[in-house]
Amino acid sequence: MKISFFKDIMPQKSAVLLIYTGGTIGMKEDPSDGTLKPFDFNSLLDEVPELRKFSLRIDAYTFAPLIDSSDVEPSMWQALANIIQEKYDDYDGFVILHGTDTMAYSASAMSFMFDHLNKPVIFTGSQLPVGRPRTDGKENLISAVEIAAARDSKGGAMVPEVCICFNSQLYRGNRSTKVNATDFDAFASPNYPPLASAGISIKYNNGFIHYPSDRRKKLEINTMLDTRVSILKIHPGITEQVVGDILLGSGSRAVILETYGSGNAISKPWFIRTVREAADSGKILLNVTQCLSGDVNMDLYATGRSLKDAGVVSGHDITTESALGKLFCLMGNYDDNEVVKSFLEKNLKGEISK
Ligand code: ASP
Repeated sequence: MKISFFKDIMPQKSAVLLIYTGGTIGMKEDPSDGTLKPFDFNSLLDEVPELRKFSLRIDAYTFAPLIDSSDVEPSMWQALANIIQEKYDDYDGFVILHGTDTMAYSASAMSFMFDHLNKPVIFTGSQLPVGRPRTDGKENLISAVEIAAARDSKGGAMVPEVCICFNSQLYRGNRSTKVNATDFDAFASPNYPPLASAGISIKYNNGFIHYPSDRRKKLEINTMLDTRVSILKIHPGITEQVVGDILLGSGSRAVILETYGSGNAISKPWFIRTVREAADSGKILLNVTQCLSGDVNMDLYATGRSLKDAGVVSGHDITTESALGKLFCLMGNYDDNEVVKSFLEKNLKGEISK
């Protein structure tokens, strides 16, 4: 079934570059202490012989050292963007094997690092190592490769976006979030529909996929990142001292305020005063809801309105992961915080419904 599907949509042999960064998918149990540690990429391909059945050229690039994604640094995103730009003309699509813990952060950040992306960049991984009998890694990897190679009747990529492929669903990377630490259904895209679903065949949700207006434009990468961002999660009992340390601390240029519901926070004078002081000092303050879905509307309640009046920018329905990547990229590219704030309000890479 899958082979005939490939013949239908692929006029000539496609090529996919698999980039292996680490994560559970390629880990093996270390008998000395029972912990999971990354293993060699060639063994990974031996574990998934099904990949050889595709009429595809699959090349591999392995990072050294392989990492648990909890150790991901923005320098890895920069390295990934450079590899993809360097190899862009040689492949139809790219699959990045990555740990699940920070996959949504990496996929989000990378979506902002590409301009004129015209080929799929698909992140995948697994909850169980690929060598385990009930692994989800095989299905995830096979679907990711199939989607990365898929082209339409004109030879264009079916999904020219940065995505996460997991548990038979393809999500836009900058809309995704890890929602489950143990189930195979580890990711969700609460505010945007899946871009594709893998059943007997892969169904593409074309109406929701972003296609570049001019497919001939050359890929550009933005690898300048400014990571001076902190996240303040509002909670009952939070103290004036803690809020002040985070909002007024000199180490950050921007603070993501993780607020209640539709963007509400504490209405106490000390809180509003601190927010105002931070905003007046020029700090970028971005309001992102703690809720899994829905969006920020600072005009709905007085508590939200006072944040807006103090100079807080609405994150609309952006995820925290995406807000972080968007800020890193915008701040890396613009020194003027007012310019950064104006771009935060805009939908740049499909990350907000606006
Ligand atoms: N700790 C692992 C990682 O993110 C978990 C996983 O891959 O699922 O690398």
